[in-house]
Amino acid sequence: MNIFLSILITFLITSGGCVILARSYFLQRKKTEDREVHQILEHIANKQNESQLILASLNLGIIAYSSDGVLLLNNDASTDMIEEIPHTFNDFLDKYDVDQKIRANFLLDKQQSEINYIYQDRSYRLSVQKRELVRDKRPGHILVIQDITRQVREEQQRKEFVANVSHELKTPLTTIKTYSESLLDWGIDEKSKESIKKDINKLYDGSLRMEDLIEDLLLLSRIDGNAIYTRIEQVELMPIVRSCVERLYPQADAKNIDFSSYSVSEKPLAYADHSALERIILNLVNNSIKYTSEFGEVKVYVGSLVDEVYIRVIDNGIGISGEAQENIFKRFYRVDATGSRAHGGTGLGLAIVKELVELHLGQIDIKSSVGKGTEFTVFLPSVKKTLRRALFELTENGVCSNTVTMAAEADLEKLAERLGIVAKWKSLQEREIDALLKAIDV
Ligand code: ADP
Repeated sequence: MNIFLSILITFLITSGGCVILARSYFLQRKKTEDREVHQILEHIANKQNESQLILASLNLGIIAYSSDGVLLLNNDASTDMIEEIPHTFNDFLDKYDVDQKIRANFLLDKQQSEINYIYQDRSYRLSVQKRELVRDKRPGHILVIQDITRQVREEQQRKEFVANVSHELKTPLTTIKTYSESLLDWGIDEKSKESIKKDINKLYDGSLRMEDLIEDLLLLSRIDGNAIYTRIEQVELMPIVRSCVERLYPQADAKNIDFSSYSVSEKPLAYADHSALERIILNLVNNSIKYTSEFGEVKVYVGSLVDEVYIRVIDNGIGISGEAQENIFKRFYRVDATGSRAHGGTGLGLAIVKELVELHLGQIDIKSSVGKGTEFTVFLPSVKKTLRRALFELTENGVCSNTVTMAAEADLEKLAERLGIVAKWKSLQEREIDALLKAIDV
């Protein structure tokens, strides 16, 4: 009995132990499984967040409709790019596919379709693709919206530019054709010497106009294509201004214009290309003479202002209206096209001036009032400012970012050498940078 009891007790204890052990084993396993499931869910959630973030950060609008045609998702960008996003694909097409282009393409079994539209003054391209979004045989639709405002604007400008060039070239070409025809038709023998001379002069003027226009166009295209050759170095502004003024004396004299130049600061210096600077000054001063009547006044001032040096051309001529001032730097813009052509202008002068000034990291300002006169001021960074900028670029990136600061780099190297500093720009100590900045400001 006792033996039986002890066997029973031993059995009960052993099986109880086994049950406890098995329970704790299964509990442990469940915990591990739970943790794994939790990790998988977390991973999925993270992936979803990542996708949401990627979608949100795109410059593209993305909208997706399911195979049932119900809105699945759209990113933040899409809400700014379209008036409203309908709940179904059909409503979307009713609202935006006004010409039935998308529907027609899908009927023809095309997988993709595109339409352009304008919303809040910006141009967009909407492309619609049929796609299997899930493992479903029927496809849903993905809509991608792209802001194409810049491309549309550039295309428009390109078209206008080509039209303008053709028009401007046609005018002198017509002159050349007309006068050469007159010489051919009449024959040299039948014309008086005087009238032959007149015709040839007209031919010559026409060819000069074409030459000017082509030169200006070539210069602009070189600037546009970053292919303009410049030799930027430290230059003193006043001698260049003085030589330009001397060159234009005959034109000013012919109109009895009171014409002179003044330096209002001591030796203003800038990093500039000599011939580009000449071109800027000649253009501005020449315009002032052209658009100022007889016995008027044209003055040129050169000076410095804190971190800038400037050239200011002031006239008391016909002036430019506020509206025209906004367009004055655009290619081919003229307030009075006939008047400008009569003066031999191409309408490209101020556009070139602006590009050249910007190439020197400068800025051009205009103040004008109709009937009273005009004041153009070209600001260029002073030599000290350019040296400081070059030092900043070199210590930050190890290289200079543009031709002006590149020109200053050689001078900085000399300055560093004078101060006993090794010009390893990216590893300069703070006290070395301070010493260089102090030396620049002397
Ligand atoms: P253009 O070759 O016709 O002179 P610009 O680009 O140099 O071309 O100038 C554009 C237009 O700006 C000119 O046609 C003229 O109407 C106006 N303009 C430029 N400078 C002056 C000025 N100093 N006074 C009045 N109008 C000016």
